[in-house]
Amino acid sequence: MKIIFFGVREEEKALIKSGTENYGYEYAIRCDYLSKENINCTKGFDAVNIVVNCIIDQTIVAKLAENGVRYIITRAAGTNHLDLNAIARYGIKTANVPSYSPNAIAEHTVMLALAAIRKFKRQIMQNQIKDFRIKGLMGMEMRNMTVGIVGTGRIGECTAKLLSGFGAKLLFYDQYRKKELQDIGNYVELEKLFNKCDILIFHCPLTKENYHMIDKKSLEKCKNGIILVNCARGGIIDTEAVLEALERGHVGSFAFDVYEKEEAFIRQNKQNQMIEDSVFTKLLSMDNVIYTAHTAFYTDEAVFNMVYTSIEDIYMYENTGNCVNEIRTMREHKRSIG
Ligand code: NAD
Repeated sequence: MKIIFFGVREEEKALIKSGTENYGYEYAIRCDYLSKENINCTKGFDAVNIVVNCIIDQTIVAKLAENGVRYIITRAAGTNHLDLNAIARYGIKTANVPSYSPNAIAEHTVMLALAAIRKFKRQIMQNQIKDFRIKGLMGMEMRNMTVGIVGTGRIGECTAKLLSGFGAKLLFYDQYRKKELQDIGNYVELEKLFNKCDILIFHCPLTKENYHMIDKKSLEKCKNGIILVNCARGGIIDTEAVLEALERGHVGSFAFDVYEKEEAFIRQNKQNQMIEDSVFTKLLSMDNVIYTAHTAFYTDEAVFNMVYTSIEDIYMYENTGNCVNEIRTMREHKRSIG
């Protein structure tokens, strides 16, 4: 088995070495993303191991098949970058790492929520200019707050359990209700979540239906001073509407790890360069807005699991013909559930 890894970060190199050695696999490492420009280097490899920045469209799939690649494995949870129908048509097997560490994202979310209610960014900004006054820094306590979680899947469940340790009152919105969460909070309709919560946290996938779930209209249903925390996907929030609501004080704080237009700058060093996005730059300058650059997932545990599970995916396919992390097209999925 020969695997070529794309988009490799420095800290992944040793893991790739030990992970492949476990199974006696050969490997090659590339730091760039798989694309039309470099696809010829996949010749002679059985598997490509990629990240979400590698866009696998029909042309790429055809070329990979021509080069003899049998597996496309993505060492992340998301699958939006894969043309699954094309992959299925060419008989290539594919898999991902659906649950590398929900705790990583949940803990980051809790950190952002705490930072927002304790006015952490304002404190840091003041300290940097040696302004050590206390005026304007009074925070709030989580145990006195009602927190709404939109999406109680793997990550949402973990955030709920962490927040219940702080004594927060928890409300949930999800079309699937988890019994195990009903001991620590209550499922309610979305409208009620908007009306009742002091903090709103998003852990649902971005879909056509929930694009801009938080917009001008839904913000008006929220309590004055609402705190928004988004570690899911940027498109869930109409950022311009949130900026407008922050400016008039209706939104108390906005903490976000994901931004709807992040493609323009994410993973790049933009020091001393203009970012031509006045909404985003305005937000960055505000002391009640906290931004982390899509790093919620980024822990040692998560990186280990991404690399190791993606190699195990190949081992499973090779040895059983199946893989628990197989990514199926909608048609295959429907067929399998009858
Ligand atoms: P999951 O599939 O386990 O859970 C998602 C939950 O959201 C499900 O229970 C689903 O029923 C629910 N849901 C779907 N649409 C909804 C809607 N409109 N309203 C309310 N609930 C809805 O997924 P997960 O592993 O918990 O991940 C959740 C999301 O977190 C991912 O889709 C991804 O967008 C995001 N994520 C972000 C990072 C990061 O680094 N910031 C990392 C991983 C995942």
